[in-house]
Amino acid sequence: MTNRAIDYDADPWAEARAMLDMPGGMLNIAYEAVDRHVMHGHGDETAMLWLGKGGDRQELSYADMARQSSRFANVLAAHGLASGDSVFALLGRVPELYIAALGTLKAGMVFTPLFSAFGPDPIRTRMEIGAAKVLVTTPDLYKRKIAAWRDEIGTLKLVLVIGVIDEDADEGCVALGPVMATASPDFDTAPTRPEDPALIHFTSGTTGRPKGAVHVHEAVLYHAFSGQCALDLTPETTYWCTADPGWVTGTSYGIIAPLVQRVKMIVDEAEFDLERWYSTIEREKIEVWYSAPTAIRMMMRSGADVAKPYDFSSLRFLASVGEPLNPEAVVWSENVFGQSFHDNWWQTETGGIMIANLPGMTVKPGSMGKPMPGIEAGIVEREGNTLKELGTGEIGELALRPGWPSMMRAYLNEQARYDKCFVDGWYLSGDLATRDEDGYFWFVGRADDLIKTSGHLVGPFEVESVLIEHPAVAEAGVIGLPDETAGEIVKAYVTLNPGFTADVALERALRGHARKRLGPAVSPRVVVFRENLPKTRSGKIMRRLLKARELGLPEGDISTLETDEK
Ligand code: ATP
Ligand code: MG
Repeated sequence: MTNRAIDYDADPWAEARAMLDMPGGMLNIAYEAVDRHVMHGHGDETAMLWLGKGGDRQELSYADMARQSSRFANVLAAHGLASGDSVFALLGRVPELYIAALGTLKAGMVFTPLFSAFGPDPIRTRMEIGAAKVLVTTPDLYKRKIAAWRDEIGTLKLVLVIGVIDEDADEGCVALGPVMATASPDFDTAPTRPEDPALIHFTSGTTGRPKGAVHVHEAVLYHAFSGQCALDLTPETTYWCTADPGWVTGTSYGIIAPLVQRVKMIVDEAEFDLERWYSTIEREKIEVWYSAPTAIRMMMRSGADVAKPYDFSSLRFLASVGEPLNPEAVVWSENVFGQSFHDNWWQTETGGIMIANLPGMTVKPGSMGKPMPGIEAGIVEREGNTLKELGTGEIGELALRPGWPSMMRAYLNEQARYDKCFVDGWYLSGDLATRDEDGYFWFVGRADDLIKTSGHLVGPFEVESVLIEHPAVAEAGVIGLPDETAGEIVKAYVTLNPGFTADVALERALRGHARKRLGPAVSPRVVVFRENLPKTRSGKIMRRLLKARELGLPEGDISTLETDEK
């Protein structure tokens, strides 16, 4: 099955709107994601195939998901919680996480998933900002990360834990299993309005202190639309989104869009493991796969040979998000999977895919694609309180005309920070990009990461992509450092592929390679080798941290930094 041609001109979301069917002008994400399918006779179809770390499998049908989420909603109601209350989850990718998300939404409450690998501080700050009333977690995570300060969160009323409670250590926790078992599997979905808050998602914290973006039920319209249009999700598609729901991708396209489109969704509890991933695609016959550059670069690092024994013929569409997708990665995927990864661009704030290489579109390796139907994107420059639109080939800030359904409605408790995003009728993304003569958008870098060297503007992505073309380089992070004569000089941090030695000769070779491709002004003056680059939990290189460390400046907010601690 392929993407159908749809006329998006009149109302780009008309088809999605027509598909959703909650009566009386009400709209509820969970109802649209699961109950609607049961109502229409699809209850027996598989909603989720869960693959446990240890090899166990669990299949949940749409009817199972509907019943379980209703039980969860009843548990919340039985504890006196009400519409608008804030429910947090601190869980790995276990079925209960997905059920809690849907149950919370069904109950008309607001859901916030956190990465289970977060340390106590980032968890606490987010729960404070979000005025958490309920936390769903495991006894182990509770003991290690929550117990010490639980009583200091004044809003917190209920801690539900999955697994066996230790009466002494888990005082005040309620075991979820038994209360779910006795709760009714029927629940009348809360009659939420399209503008009622549904989810709070914290941004990745790549550029600074994370923001809590508030999303509403109306977002489901855009998830339904973009899931089909940009990811080619159609009923019964076997689909795998590798992102954790702690990152917006893992919710918008790891829960909502796929379920609304009635796909068979694969959820893998385990972290990245090359051979596990390849065999999952082969064994489960994955058709649509949504992943991220950091994972793709890890695959590349292991070489194409590891992939050879596997049968990838089930794959029909590959997409990537989260960071710029290096052209090298697109070419590599064509060789290994027989098709390109389709890059797409969006943010926690936008709630859904904004710029994309749509199915069937010619992929220009290194480009993020074109604006989605119904989305107006521009390249702009500030002029006081107004914006000037720039022309083809000019570098400016990537801006969007607000008005699509999944756009954030607020940064929680940060009105001023939110207001600053909107200027002259545009939403400013904070990213720099250019548009070519065919209307394709090319990512240049975060506005904060742009390097000015000897009168040239250098986007780190361009330099990183050139370094990655060298056979020795697995990953690269590029920053600008202050320099008296040049203003800034370009410095590169690289990790190496197996079989290469970090020595002076290689350093020289890499600088030479970059100079040849980029010219002396733009190419890195210094190349250093690292075992790893600092990354966020969502897999983004934290260039600001490389720079702060280099300059001996404060590290700033590193609450989302990935560490070995689990
Ligand atoms: P914070 O806003 O807290 O600094 P963040 O911007 O990394 O964190 P997210 O909302 O998870 O948080 O990420 C959105 C950003 O990721 C985009 O603004 C962009 O910089 C980057 N990004 C996402 N997709 C792409 C892509 N396809 N190409 C280039 N960059 C991308
Ligand atoms: Mg951001």
